[in-house]
Amino acid sequence: MSTAVRTSAFTEPDRPKGLLIRFVTTGGSYVDVTGHGEHFVTNRWTCHGCGDASRTPEEDYLFRIRPDANNHATACRAIPLT
Ligand SMILES: [Zn+2]
Repeated sequence: MSTAVRTSAFTEPDRPKGLLIRFVTTGGSYVDVTGHGEHFVTNRWTCHGCGDASRTPEEDYLFRIRPDANNHATACRAIPLT
C-alpha cells in the first residue's frame, strides 16, 4: 500500500495574501488558513470545496485554528466547482 500523498485532481487556486497554511481536502479541494500568524487572533480558515469557514470564534490564534482546518480538510468531500 502506498503512503504517498495523493495530489489533487484539481488546479490549485491562486494563493491569497496572508495565506499561512493550505490543506488539501479528501475531496481534492483546499482549506486555506489566512491571517497574521501565530501570535495574532486574526486567523481564520475557509474551504474552497464546500464554502464552510471557521465560526466559533470566527477568528482565533493559529494553534486553535490549525487543527480545526486540518480536521475539516480530512472530513470534507466536496469538490471544487470552478
Ligand atoms: Zn469543505
